Amino acid sequence: MSGETDTPTQHVRTVCPYCGVGCGMILRVERGRVVGVSGDKNHPANFGALCTKGSTVHETLHVPGRLAYAHRRRAGGAPGEFERVPVDFALDAVADGFKKIIAAHGPDAVALYVSGQLSTEAQYVANKLVKGFLGTNNIDSNSRLCMASAAAGYKTSLGADAPPGHYEDFEHADLFFALGANMADCHPILFQRLRRRMKSDARARLIVADPRRTATAAEATLFLPLRPGSDLALLNGLLHLLLKNGAVDPDFIARCTDGWDALAALLADYPPDRVAALCDLPEADLHRAAEMLAAAPNFLTLWTQGICQSTRGTWSTNAICNLHLATGRFGRPGSGPFSLTGQPNAMGGREVGYLASGLPGQRNVTDARDRAETEALWKLPAGAIRPTPGLAAVDLFKAMEAGAVRALWVIGSNPLATMPNRDRVRRALERAEFVVVQDAYQPTETGRYAHILLPGALWAEAAGTMVNSSRMVTLAPRAVAPPTDARPDWQLVCEVARRLGFGAAFAFQSAAEIFDEIARSHNPRTGYDLRGMSHARLARDGALTWPLAPAPDAVETKRRYVVANDLRFPTPNGRAQFLARPFLPDAEMPDDAFPFVLTTGRLAHQWHTRTKTGKVSALNKLNPAPFLEIHPADAAALGVETGDLVRVSSRRGDAELPARVSTDIRVGCCWAPFHWAERASINAVTSEATDPISLQPELKFCAVRLARVSAAISAPSQQPATV
Ligand code: SF4
Repeated sequence: MSGETDTPTQHVRTVCPYCGVGCGMILRVERGRVVGVSGDKNHPANFGALCTKGSTVHETLHVPGRLAYAHRRRAGGAPGEFERVPVDFALDAVADGFKKIIAAHGPDAVALYVSGQLSTEAQYVANKLVKGFLGTNNIDSNSRLCMASAAAGYKTSLGADAPPGHYEDFEHADLFFALGANMADCHPILFQRLRRRMKSDARARLIVADPRRTATAAEATLFLPLRPGSDLALLNGLLHLLLKNGAVDPDFIARCTDGWDALAALLADYPPDRVAALCDLPEADLHRAAEMLAAAPNFLTLWTQGICQSTRGTWSTNAICNLHLATGRFGRPGSGPFSLTGQPNAMGGREVGYLASGLPGQRNVTDARDRAETEALWKLPAGAIRPTPGLAAVDLFKAMEAGAVRALWVIGSNPLATMPNRDRVRRALERAEFVVVQDAYQPTETGRYAHILLPGALWAEAAGTMVNSSRMVTLAPRAVAPPTDARPDWQLVCEVARRLGFGAAFAFQSAAEIFDEIARSHNPRTGYDLRGMSHARLARDGALTWPLAPAPDAVETKRRYVVANDLRFPTPNGRAQFLARPFLPDAEMPDDAFPFVLTTGRLAHQWHTRTKTGKVSALNKLNPAPFLEIHPADAAALGVETGDLVRVSSRRGDAELPARVSTDIRVGCCWAPFHWAERASINAVTSEATDPISLQPELKFCAVRLARVSAAISAPSQQPATV
């Protein structure tokens, strides 16, 4: 049931707006307010379970700090000096600002930066406006920081983006291989599912490869605390051993793949003694891991930012696909590569093409047929869509700093806190002539630099869909009204489009109408198909997994590429591609001046830049403050004890965080969560070196030096910068 009346209690079926697990939840609504939340027992992602973030998410709706009105920067005012304006005035100003800059400097002088936390419908109209009507391809998303390397790896290895399997595979796997994925903290409900499988079958195993002894590693059958950045050496080394031990599947290789000979030749360079040295792991553990993989009738490889936020993220994804293709552990229950998305709707965004090279329906601006089909969908003349990708996130902010991009519209993201090399992003925002920030909260670090603030509705205040890591589409209906002048993100985009003269193409009366247009972007070449879905059907049937054909008797496709008991991939010859990817060092290796490796991540009870979770007292009690994890041997050498304030410095900037001395981190490494702001903002330090294929920055690896500042009592501020 859904609605927004003032009847005493309603229960609204929806989806959690935090992580890519995409748990179904039920909101309890009383007198126009969401007063409670519980897990949806019928949702195929979580069957009723919620983690700490999901079970408190209703507290983020009705709190101080919601952006309920549009604002503009005061005439002559400094960043952060705003005055309230009517939302229609602000929408006029956005359209005028973009129009003037395009007229004076051309369409590539403007850009949008959007988010995997928006509904698919909002992502779709933002992309349509930019690539179809503004005449530029300059739209990118915070998915670029998250799983762009997985997307690029899937496309190059398998022919199309998105995991080939389904969460149901967790009930069939004999072994889970988690690489750079701290699922216990970052995908907790999916990790519960993994745990249940381990408990239900004493033979099930978990291998974890991670430079930190994470909560996930603590439950591993075999933990491989590898050297940061050595994942590709590990993956090649394991396949070397599987090949040597006769544990590959020659029949599968012959039937379904291309490129085996070149890969086999490369694998010869990864004997266990060399790999053990590269990864700094005991050779015996490599043998044991290979034996466990060989013995498992079915295994899933699970990975997330630990693999993707690297200059070799795409290649490591290719190597994961190699592992599954070579062993034939693909396309059957319990087997396959399974990337886990960070954000709740990064999958939806990737599918509607909101990265700088994408078009709806898993299409690409560089492909003439993809452009022509999208032009037909959008009723544009042939040749209207530009054939070259727009600026990806890191290059976008570099172009702003250089003055080439003059106007930026940020929707549902906080790049000043999340992008690497924060000082460059700040300089870019300061230099821009016109910055629009559309958000549900204020202040945020990025919002401070806005010329116009547009108030966006939260997920429970606007209808829309989200797609989780398992390709499940869940409807989030409007459960309550947004505060005062706030409006759904898709509506704000369409209103600006109308003011720019594109009203006919953006005359949507509802998010359901946008969804219907998205479904028309069906792509028979990749298998992307939402035609069997609509808002009405999702409301009736609950979450559905794509591809889902429009026939009334069509059923969800849980495992992709399986055709008549064989596998057929969306590549030119229908075969998956083995790609030989050599191990290479990271972009910035430690040296005498910066002798430590910094790696970063998330905590279990905070989310991104804490604009939401920072307002929930229960979560702040669980993860109250930032910290820098340092090994006791390094701490002793630096004269640091737990609680001391430590300065972590790179070639780009520095941050100060209280030390947490722990054997959970390797000697020579340190780790910090990226949730906190101001002096604790670790992204002042991180590197913007990017993967050359996915253009994802290497947030997981840079060279730093550490110095004790003081035995500080007070932790750095936990709140976003104020305006
Ligand atoms: S696991 Fe993710 S989707 Fe599920 S309740 Fe927690 S934050 Fe929400």
